[in-house]
Amino acid sequence: MSTPESKIEKEIREPLISNIQRYSLQDGPGFRTTIFIKGCPLRCPWCHNPDTQSIEPEISYYSQKCTGCGRCAERCPTGAIYTEVKGKETFLRNDRSKCIGCGKCADACLSGARDIVGRKIPLNEIIREAAADAMFFFKSGGGVTISGGDPMLFPDYTLELAKLLKKEGLHVALETSAFGQWQHLEVLLRYIDLFLIDIKTMDGAKCKNVIKGDLEVILSNFIKLVEAGASVRARLPMIPGFNNSPSDYEAYTQFLSKFVGKIDAVDLLPFHSYGEKKYELLGRQESYQFQNVHSMEGKELKPFLMMLIEAGFVAGQSLTVGGLIGVK
Ligand code: SF4
Ligand code: SF4
Repeated sequence: MSTPESKIEKEIREPLISNIQRYSLQDGPGFRTTIFIKGCPLRCPWCHNPDTQSIEPEISYYSQKCTGCGRCAERCPTGAIYTEVKGKETFLRNDRSKCIGCGKCADACLSGARDIVGRKIPLNEIIREAAADAMFFFKSGGGVTISGGDPMLFPDYTLELAKLLKKEGLHVALETSAFGQWQHLEVLLRYIDLFLIDIKTMDGAKCKNVIKGDLEVILSNFIKLVEAGASVRARLPMIPGFNNSPSDYEAYTQFLSKFVGKIDAVDLLPFHSYGEKKYELLGRQESYQFQNVHSMEGKELKPFLMMLIEAGFVAGQSLTVGGLIGVK
């Protein structure tokens, strides 16, 4: 079995945070604050949060907001942004390969066209922000979700964060692909109220070749979490052409049927292309393979739903399409 061991993983204890999203309704029960940690060991081609894949800071550039003032090019120390004169016109150019993520361009931009994605935020600030909505959480049965990227790329940090959130008396969910070392998940059992485990495929070769993960590790961790008595929801992103064939449904059903009554639920998450704009803002539109792929409708998953219902899951209770959407 291989896990995402890397020099980077060991050295970087404090990850960047790409976003802290308040009033989130899709990352667990109730109203939630979701903390998006930047960095993921997997490379899902459909990822709708591409800004959380890299551990490095990145610059988003919203060309429609750009006034062409050139302040960013003047401040850029590496020539990643430069101007090119053609005839009487001056064009702003980007060479992202030269970007070191210093953020000087974003600081210089007065129109909000450039922003830095990924900032270090002190833990006490994160906790303060999360705890500010405690009343909403308690009333709605919500809490905080640690998400990413994949928080398990930074196990020590995630443990510390979870401990501090629990100290505030908050409900804490962890969204992860479970592609990491079991001992890192095991120590979290005391501090995580709900594990949201993404199972993106049941095909080991696809897992390895397409998303760069190890299915054996993922499933083994899933099983261990359930055996340890953790609250677990299996989240299945349904991706056209990747995991929505009858044989995919069969493999998922065969595996998940062993967990009827043992896991909280299976959530089918139909593919959507809302992340496409983010690829554009990050200058990575060419790498997005799902351009022009239609967002999936829940009814397309009916055959799969029927198989899971037959296996013992209960629609609306232990089986959802779209996840929890903020309900208890
Ligand atoms: S982040 Fe720094 S290096 Fe990158 S484009 Fe902006 S100013 Fe240039
Ligand atoms: S500073 Fe902002 S508005 Fe001015 S050229 Fe750069 S991106 Fe455009």
